[in-house]
Amino acid sequence: DVPADEAGARLTVDLGALKRNYQALAAMTAGAECAAVVKADAYGIGIEAAGPALAAAGARTFFVAHLSEARRLRAVLPSAAIYVLNGLFGEALATYADHQLRPVLGSRDDIERFSAFCSQTARRWPAAIHVDTGMNRLGLDLAEAALLAEPGPHALAFEPALLMSHFACADEPGHPLTARQVDRFAQVRGLFPGVPGSLANSAGCTMSAARHDLARPGVALYGARYRADRAPLEPVVRLDAPLVQVREVRAGDTVGYGATWSASRPSRIGIVSVGYADGYLRSAGTTNHQAGAYARVNGVTCRLAGRVSMDLIAIDVTDAGQAAPGDTVTLIGDGIGVDDVAEAAGTIGYEVLTSLGRRYNRRYT
Ligand code: PLP
Repeated sequence: DVPADEAGARLTVDLGALKRNYQALAAMTAGAECAAVVKADAYGIGIEAAGPALAAAGARTFFVAHLSEARRLRAVLPSAAIYVLNGLFGEALATYADHQLRPVLGSRDDIERFSAFCSQTARRWPAAIHVDTGMNRLGLDLAEAALLAEPGPHALAFEPALLMSHFACADEPGHPLTARQVDRFAQVRGLFPGVPGSLANSAGCTMSAARHDLARPGVALYGARYRADRAPLEPVVRLDAPLVQVREVRAGDTVGYGATWSASRPSRIGIVSVGYADGYLRSAGTTNHQAGAYARVNGVTCRLAGRVSMDLIAIDVTDAGQAAPGDTVTLIGDGIGVDDVAEAAGTIGYEVLTSLGRRYNRRYT
């Protein structure tokens, strides 16, 4: 749906790598089912392409954040189990039933509204119960969960298809909150015998105590690093853009908005057709006080020079031989990972991925 633009940057998504990453995570979580978290347009890579690729790799259960994402996924995956993580906020409940989507109920209000909907429609629609074990974001607290589990007049009007919780610090090995969350989740599961459990995000996939019945990796599928990773993950995303100009600057000349970077030697500066409007983070720029991200031109690694503008960046191609307009500059790929850009920008791979804009000429291989 994005027109090819000769002047623009190109995003290449390797669906084969995505499938192999899924299979590596499924092998790592063997004994449990491995779901796929495809919220935020599959972390920016495109849900309509990623969903079927992951299904072809063996995924049967998917998690999105919004109902609109769930409907897009349903259009390409008619029979997958699709959970909507953000709960029932502001949505017409019949939509869940009409498209066979499963809400993740994360508050007493969600539980009451969905129960009332089930009673009205005289059907126990499936849903997940989200229990908060320490993240303090979404989910019933332990007392609310215990109340919900009591037999009698509170008996559930919906089908509890899954009991889930989410880690706050699983990417920090040895963080004490993780062990507490594991224990609390085991305790809550005891209240709902027979209901499958799900706790592990990508980092949690490495912990056997977090595995339960269904693992829910997201970022690891897309090849971004997560601490404590043990699976052999491949990069999924590649970002290239054309060099549109090469110019000479003298030692001491500044480049770009704010004049925040100055050349320490006579330099050749390459101007590249990609910017923050494409989703290339503005914070990845280089100033005299901060080392920014790298790019590669003709096999040579070059650093950004100055701030990232809306549609352009500047890179120092002094050491890149005869770099010339029309050459391809690689911003992600050829050894520059999503996480390298994230580190230069002072953020995490998740943000680099989910910022990937719609303006790119996208290619799926
Ligand atoms: N489960 C829930 C509830 C989430 O919000 C997320 C994403 O943040 C995930 C699973 C997947 O997490 P990750 O991308 O760290 O694997």
